[in-house]
Amino acid sequence: MFPFVNVHTHTPGEGINVWDVGRNVPVGEVGEMDFFSVGIHPMEGMREGEVDWSGFRVLVERERVVAVGECGLDRRFARDLREQERLFWRQAECAEEAGKPVVIHGVRAYPEIIATRKAGEFRMPWVIHGYNNNERILAQLLEHGFYISAGAVLLTPDSNVSRRLGDIPLERLFLETDDRETGIEEVYAGAACRLGWEMEELKKRLWMNFNTVFHGMVK
Ligand SMILES: [Zn+2]
Repeated sequence: MFPFVNVHTHTPGEGINVWDVGRNVPVGEVGEMDFFSVGIHPMEGMREGEVDWSGFRVLVERERVVAVGECGLDRRFARDLREQERLFWRQAECAEEAGKPVVIHGVRAYPEIIATRKAGEFRMPWVIHGYNNNERILAQLLEHGFYISAGAVLLTPDSNVSRRLGDIPLERLFLETDDRETGIEEVYAGAACRLGWEMEELKKRLWMNFNTVFHGMVK
């Protein structure tokens, strides 16, 4: 039996969780299946110059922190996209230095996210979380080596991600619950059904992806 892997959640549940804790990494006892991602969400509205970067680096280096994020770009937010890009870039640099992947929040800014990856020659895996966009953007992200994480939206039959799920190579796929109340097992069941895979086989493959992208970072 392989565990469920929930690659981006704000409320950890069953299986292995990459728990987005912002900058508040819990101290003391945590579940052995709980790992953390630390990041500054673009909607927080922080400026790059306001961040204590040496403190941030210390957090990123913490043992159970397996990723930086969620961070990224969001066009719905009024703040200048250039300012968001500076904040995102610095976080991507911290991830690169620590040898950890990045969990990315992107809204109407995928070309800029791809351009950032290219311009910085970033090499650590970048995972687009909550993907629900069109075929063309999916193809571009895959071409540039991104991993794609799908959430509860895939349970909605006519959603983009539900229709495109089969276009994501299994070795680049992750599943997540984000801030939804839907359990990770429901998301897996929906994905297994759409993809025509046995649940256990899907769990095994995504667990292998987790080991490739995240778990290898745990010292
Ligand atoms: Zn989230």
